[in-house]
Amino acid sequence: MPSPLRLPSIDSLLRHPACQPLATRYGRDALLASLRQLLDDLREGVLAGELDALEVAPEALAGRVSERLVAQQRSQVRRVFNLTGTVLHTNLGRALLPEEAIEAVQMAARYPLNLEFDLRSGKRGDRDDLIEGLIRELTGAEAVTVVNNNAAAVLLTLNSLGARKEGIISRGELIEIGGAFRIPDIMARAGVRLHEVGTTNRTHARDYEAAISPRSGLIMRVHASNYSIEGFTARVPTAELAALAHQHGLPLLEDLGSGSLLDLTRWGLPAEPTVRQALLDGADIVTFSGDKLLGGPQAGLIVGRKELIAKIKKNPLKRALRVDKLTLAALEAVLGLYRDPDRLAERLPSLRLLTRPQADILAQAERLQPSLAQALGDGWNVSAVPSLGMIGSGSQPVARLPSAALCLRPQVSKRLRGRQLLNLEGAFRALPIPLLGRIDDDALWLDLRQLDDEPAWLAQLDQLKVEHP
Ligand SMILES: *Cc1c(COP(=O)(O)O)cnc(C)c1O
Repeated sequence: MPSPLRLPSIDSLLRHPACQPLATRYGRDALLASLRQLLDDLREGVLAGELDALEVAPEALAGRVSERLVAQQRSQVRRVFNLTGTVLHTNLGRALLPEEAIEAVQMAARYPLNLEFDLRSGKRGDRDDLIEGLIRELTGAEAVTVVNNNAAAVLLTLNSLGARKEGIISRGELIEIGGAFRIPDIMARAGVRLHEVGTTNRTHARDYEAAISPRSGLIMRVHASNYSIEGFTARVPTAELAALAHQHGLPLLEDLGSGSLLDLTRWGLPAEPTVRQALLDGADIVTFSGDKLLGGPQAGLIVGRKELIAKIKKNPLKRALRVDKLTLAALEAVLGLYRDPDRLAERLPSLRLLTRPQADILAQAERLQPSLAQALGDGWNVSAVPSLGMIGSGSQPVARLPSAALCLRPQVSKRLRGRQLLNLEGAFRALPIPLLGRIDDDALWLDLRQLDDEPAWLAQLDQLKVEHP
């Protein structure tokens, strides 16, 4: 019977020439920790006789520990190519910041700044003041306060204006947005008692009116961003609802979700309600996201009447939900770009990508088709085709953006197709810059609307490891 295999000792490995460069590069402590883990992981395999002498030789172990150290050193936050066709993809970080905002973030990260310090009076300031002027100019609102995201904006507003009272809302607007944000739950957490009125498809002014009582605290309207009700529907226009609310001394709160600062139809995009219009119609408070159509950092903006904003800012929850200096720096820079709408589509990446003409994207797909076909080899049919993408983040759920894609079809029997597609999807995810597409109709689609960095994309194609059936 052969003598049992033994793993080398930690000490002998640390002294081994194959491990020396690793100690220099990653530090002795990191090397030691990785070696320990590796030996622990291998012990069972050795006992079970699954490993041979070559596999546990110091050189082989040094190789494996080096791979682990490389992987551990690599950041967990990774850049990816978003070729899913969804531009503002919540799971992929939504809006991309313009250079102006990136520079502002760097400045704010590197130096002390007047975050809560009024440089004119020399006294303590308020961080919301840094963007208030711009928000007033761009939306017509009297005042603003900013929190971490729009979910926080809705929670904070409801709690500040409606706690222990009733919040009146149409049944057609009791929505759930991704990530477990549900209007009834947020209302409950905010301490507001939900008073639902009307029906899923039709709610009339008289439904709201019948619900108003001394217990009422506010009327809420939620933009049904991620679904649409069509057919036999009725909805009270904001102006009419605002008049009704004000007649009874109640504030009207409108959660626009994405909302937009400008009318997007000027760029050929589907119409989204603008913040300015909601305020003009009489909404007292409007809430919206910073990183959806606005194209900025993650943030929740609460804008509207001065005395209501003052009340919201006094709520201790505001302190818990406030934004940091990096967000404010980025937000101010993005808002600044809106002062010049004529150049906005060139300067704001999300708008530039959303408005890329289909012909451009198709030309790009045709240009890249040969390289990808070659990288994939015989097992795949690669074609450049028109496709349909979407805005994402709940904006315009039914609207489709005419786009173009590389469509990859496995040339195998139907039975094997699903597996082949998943394999290829995995291979794309394993690239140095993981590439994410979308499987649909027995094909993997790479929508190129968001492919800006063509050189980086092409440069890693030869590292694609495709399995052949
Ligand atoms: C997206 C959305 C929210 C949540 O906004 P976040 O910025 O993701 O927190 C709230 N309400 C509506 C209507 C939305 O569309």
